[in-house]
Parts: sequence; C-alpha cells; structure tokens
Amino acid sequence: MKKLENKVALITGASKGIGAAIAKQFAAEGAKVVVNYASSKEGADRVVKEITDTGGTAIAVQGDVSSEAEVTRLFEETRRAFGTLDILVNNAGIYQYEPIEEVSAKTFHDQFNINVLGSILAIQSSLKLFGDKGGNIINISSEAGKTPLPTGSVYSATKAALDAITISLSKEFSGKNIRINSILPGVVETEGSRSAGFIGSEAETKFVANTPLGRTGQPDDIAKVAVFLASDDSAWITGEKISVSGGIYGL
Ligand code: NAP
Repeated sequence: MKKLENKVALITGASKGIGAAIAKQFAAEGAKVVVNYASSKEGADRVVKEITDTGGTAIAVQGDVSSEAEVTRLFEETRRAFGTLDILVNNAGIYQYEPIEEVSAKTFHDQFNINVLGSILAIQSSLKLFGDKGGNIINISSEAGKTPLPTGSVYSATKAALDAITISLSKEFSGKNIRINSILPGVVETEGSRSAGFIGSEAETKFVANTPLGRTGQPDDIAKVAVFLASDDSAWITGEKISVSGGIYGL
C-alpha cells in the first residue's frame, strides 16, 4: 500500500520549486492533492497535469495565503472537491535578502504576511477540515531561521517565528491527534533561489564547501522528508524541527 493512500493534502505554493516536488511525491504515494498558487496558473496546471497523466488526482486552486478571504476560499474549494483534509503543507514563502538600511515596512510586511500570517491562516482553516479525526501539518521553514545570514534579518526572523509556531502548536494540539513539524531546508535549487541569485553564485560555492554532503539540495530531497512526516512512518514525531540541508554548517 502506498504511504498516503486515501489522504487529502493541500500544499501552499505548489506551482514550482519545493512545493511542486512535494505535490508530485504526495500524489505518487496515493494522496489526492490540492496544488495552491498565487499567480503562476500555468505552473500549477503543469503540476496537476503531470500528476493526472500518471494516474494521480490533483486540482489547482489559486489563493494568496496572506489574504484571509482567499485562504477561506482555498479551503472551501478543497472541501467541495474532496470533502475533507488530512495534510497541510505550509510551503508558500518569499525571501528577500537586503541590508538592514534597506529594510522597509513593505519588505517586512510582505515577508511576514506570507511566511508567517499565511501559515497561521492556513492552519486555522485546516483545523475545520481536519475535524475530530485530526490531521498533519508540515511547515517549510529554513536553515536560515536557525543560522541567519547577513542581509537576511527579516527573512530569518520569519522562519524562526514559524518554528516557534510549530513547537507552540504541537503542545496546543495535545490530545487532538494533530501532528505538526518543521522542515528546515538548506540551499535548494528552485526557481526562487535561482532568481534570488544564489544558484551559480560565489555564495553557493561557499555553501557547498560548508556542506558535508557536498552539493546543493534538489526539491525532491525535501519532498521525500515531507512524505515521511506526512505518513504514519513518523507517527510518534511532533513539534520537531528537521534540517534537510546536507549537514550545512557556518552559512
Ligand atoms: P519558489 O521557487 O519561489 O516558489 C514559491 C512558491 O510559493 C510558488 O509556488 C509561489 O506561487 C508560491 N507563493 C508565493 N507567494 C505566495 C502567496 N502569497 N500565496 C500563495 N502562494 C505563494 O520558492 P522555493 O525556493 O521552492 O521555496 C519554497 C519554500 O521553501 C519557501 O517557504 C522558502 O522560504 C523555503 N526555503 C527555500 C529554500 C531554497 O533554497 N529554495 C531554502 C530554505 C527554505 P506563484 O508562483 O503563483 O507566486
């Protein structure tokens, strides 16, 4: 039997990068998948087609996670399509590296609204669909929350906040059969990290030099751990922060 057979999973920000890889791996393990996106309809449709072409079940649903009304609609569409929810992956996120002098209220709020508020809104809505049977939440955090880089003060703060939410809620969900864990990726090759200028840069060479496993990550490296956390293989794990980073040290 596949690891996520009969489960319904919603992955935020799944039109590309890490989210798309998680959606595809979940579907390959038998989950029915909601592929959320903000603006990249084409990317989300491509992910859905890849899943359905290989016999899986998926739908694409637009929704900006930083908007309460759009998150409500996203979960309502999930309920209409599949009737329930078992797994939420809070993956949608943005990162902006800038010196402290350049941090503005806008860049602060943009990152906190998507990375932190967006996750909180999605968790609130997921609870209604989990119902009495419980559920499973995976927050895609970052090594940067644990080992912040220069010029990453705000982004790192969003991910440290997300990890605090993971730990707090693991206790708040006591007795409710809801597990919640964080995955902390190291540097992963995605559309986002490429356009941020990390991939192919001097910084990437330095990251790899500080990575015992000697390479940058690929989205599937993260997706495989997400499958583990979403499945019963991790049935006794909650409130944990799991680094998936090739062992990177000294960012
Ligand atoms: P990416 O390639 O830039 O993809 C980001 C995804 O998030 C896209 O599907 C995007 O959808 C979606 N998204 C952005 N804003 C959204 C919003 N307001 N509402 C809903 N969806 C939204 O990013 P990635 O590199 O795969 O990163 C994914 C997650 O991993 C992020 O939380 C990031 O912080 C974390 N992470 C990444 C790395 C890395 O090296 N790549 C390392 C550590 C942690 P649209 O395309 O429709 O906008």
